Amino acid sequence: MSFWNRAATFGFQLPRLDQEGLEFFPESACKVMSGQRLLRNILAQCQELSSTRYAAAKKPHLSVILPGEHPASRVYVEHKQKRFAEAGFSSQVIWVPEEDCHFDHLAELIDELNANPDVDGILLQLPLPGRLDPTPLLDRILPEKDVDGFHIQNTGCLASGRYHGLLPCTPFGIFALLHAYGVQVGGQNVTVVGRSNLVGKPAALLALNARATVTVVHKGTADVPYFTRSADVLIVAAGSHHLIRSGAVKAGAVVIDVGIHRTAEGKIQGDVHPEVAQVASALTPVPGGVGPMTIGMLCVNTAIACWSRRS
Ligand code: NAD
Repeated sequence: MSFWNRAATFGFQLPRLDQEGLEFFPESACKVMSGQRLLRNILAQCQELSSTRYAAAKKPHLSVILPGEHPASRVYVEHKQKRFAEAGFSSQVIWVPEEDCHFDHLAELIDELNANPDVDGILLQLPLPGRLDPTPLLDRILPEKDVDGFHIQNTGCLASGRYHGLLPCTPFGIFALLHAYGVQVGGQNVTVVGRSNLVGKPAALLALNARATVTVVHKGTADVPYFTRSADVLIVAAGSHHLIRSGAVKAGAVVIDVGIHRTAEGKIQGDVHPEVAQVASALTPVPGGVGPMTIGMLCVNTAIACWSRRS
């Protein structure tokens, strides 16, 4: 469980949610792996720790840079602020109009936040408008304030299995959820669909570090179902609506659906078709699965960033 060790140092505990209160998908024996349930627990721990063990310290504070006009980004940022308030932490959104979204201005803003002792965590909301490359800006955020876990130093820590950096929130949340539902990945076949720096690659590294046999498939893979069918644990982060159907899943597999899609009717759905609940033993719902965990781990990372600088 070494991925959780750093959080544990600061007093966070990873609860087991598979002992009681289990829910199942309709007309199936497939467990619901609820990110909402785990998020509620994590937010309560944030409140508790900041009012007891860290009562003498200032509350953790996150600064979010929101670049340009991206309606989905605005919604994500509002969610983050709401959850931070529920955790008893503070947050601030710095909106940068599209015409000011050029490297020099964003770099200057990051430098100011890096230098500000009241700011514990900095998050540059992606995507950036136009063709601006986020990489040099992400690497400009101080690694100890990089609560998204994208700085090259933090990705290096993850790649080498040294968990003293900050982990990227979505993969961190996926592994917290797996553990909370009693899923051990060591010795299992784990297949990850997608190889993005944001989700696919770090999720594969976490699985590898946990001694899983890991396969990563992507757009360049000729026969994706051939690989997904051998997975005991299948993590799908392709950004392709209902890509994974039941025929691509091994009976009894645990399936993590990272995808988020808004349908024409305004429903939120994932990369995994609901029929997969008929073959999987456990599945994350969309919404309510990985999404809440991403925000939960952002709270944990901001707490770690704050309390490690103050202790
Ligand atoms: P991305 O576009 O950066 O990467 C997608 C990856 O999937 C690529 O490596 C691509 O090769 C692969 N892929 C695409 N179509 C495929 C196909 N048909 N078969 C096999 N591989 C395929 O996306 P991302 O940033 O990794 O995000 C993936 C999805 O997860 C998106 O829907 C995104 O909205 C969602 N997401 C959700 C959360 C959350 O908190 N729930 C967080 C981040 C991303």
